[in-house]
Amino acid sequence: MGKNSLEDLKKRARQLGAKEAKIIDAKTVKTAAWVRYKCQFGCDGFGGCLTCPPYSPPPEQTQKILDCYKKAILIYNPGSAKKSISNVAVSLEKEAFFAGFYKTLAMGAGPCMLCKGCNIKGECRHREKARPSMEACGIDVFATVRKNGFQIETLDSYGCQANYFGLVLVE
Ligand code: SF4
Repeated sequence: MGKNSLEDLKKRARQLGAKEAKIIDAKTVKTAAWVRYKCQFGCDGFGGCLTCPPYSPPPEQTQKILDCYKKAILIYNPGSAKKSISNVAVSLEKEAFFAGFYKTLAMGAGPCMLCKGCNIKGECRHREKARPSMEACGIDVFATVRKNGFQIETLDSYGCQANYFGLVLVE
């Protein structure tokens, strides 16, 4: 892909299937201790796959990782989108790496859906593609996306259209 700029990667995010993509300051990505508690007490996916808590990095470790970066690309898809935001994030991470952003790391949304049943007693079967979600790493997704101009609210039923966000750290 060559030495592409952040702007090129932002465009690529949309071509890869994101409805929206924004270059953001990595400092606007907020971690919080309560996010992990929400996973553990409130989400039936807890412990269900290797990209979710308790296997994914806790907020303190994620904060240390975020501190290694200045910029990130925040990507968004509505629940109706054909391509999952996690798939877009992983593809963009790969392209960013080949473009010279050697530290790039991707995070998606929700649990990993790559296998029918996760191999939680062993090793991940697809390390090249499996990435944790932002929330699984202790990121306050609501605060982060609102800070970057997205308007999202909590949903009051499973019938509502969900919003999915992913993050690709780039440097
Ligand atoms: S790729 Fe498979 S084994 Fe790895 S985290 Fe995802 S579901 Fe689990």
